[in-house]
Amino acid sequence: MNLPVPPQPASEQPALQYERALQLLGHSGRPLPTAEPGSDAWLQGLIDALVDLSSRDALTGLANRRAFELALAREVDRVARSGESALLLALDIDHFKRVNDTRGHAAGDQVIKAVASVLQDAVRPMDLVARVGGEEFAIILPNCGSGFGAAVAERVRRRVAQMQVAIAQQQSVAVSVSIGGAFAPQWVRSTPSLWLERADQQLYLAKAQGRNLVRMEPTPVSVVSVEEKRLLFETSQFQDHE
Ligand code: GH3
Ligand code: MG
Ligand code: MG
Repeated sequence: MNLPVPPQPASEQPALQYERALQLLGHSGRPLPTAEPGSDAWLQGLIDALVDLSSRDALTGLANRRAFELALAREVDRVARSGESALLLALDIDHFKRVNDTRGHAAGDQVIKAVASVLQDAVRPMDLVARVGGEEFAIILPNCGSGFGAAVAERVRRRVAQMQVAIAQQQSVAVSVSIGGAFAPQWVRSTPSLWLERADQQLYLAKAQGRNLVRMEPTPVSVVSVEEKRLLFETSQFQDHE
């Protein structure tokens, strides 16, 4: 492929090695920036494409672990500021080793890709679906209340269980996932790792109780009492005094 390489900076070690960056993008199948090579718009396009490349998992195209951790930290901040509810789901493919052992690693990869695509289709565009490990996924669902959250998790589980993944020679594989869910504590500053740990504990329960199951942490009781909310909103220090 002929790549449009702009003139290199005068220094011996350029800060951004254009040729290598373009090769990386070319290998990933991403479109190259179309603006005039070397122009500000071209450079911005190149940087945007590299950021996208560094935040996506190569096999599935989902957000990778790094992007997931950044998004989770942002969501923890947002929940603490807004008091909105948010749900984190941790998912793990059931008995995945068997697929690798009986059908081969390439078939295993196809199963991972198929599950990724079903997960992405089963949630809203605002939800972040990530591949966080080999056959492990996580979904961040902002602004998601307890009734809705439980229904979404169940829908995700069902869609995966209904799927047959086509692999080589007219064969197909059935697949299921176990899912653990935990809501972010509202009005409280938590940490991404604590939140993830709570979702993982539920995932562990789902595995222990038989797999192909959803287990959700009981909805947290609001730590702000009605009386405290009244104090917060009704006798605000910002109210005008007579
Ligand atoms: P469980 O129901 O308890 O989750 O059983 P499991 O067999 O899924 O157990 P585990 O989660 O420990 O197995 C994960 C396996 O996934 C082990 C590893 O060989 C395989 N694996 C990890 N990453 C990849 C990958 O990218 N492609 C393929 N084909 N296999 C992978
Ligand atoms: Mg696993
Ligand atoms: Mg597994």
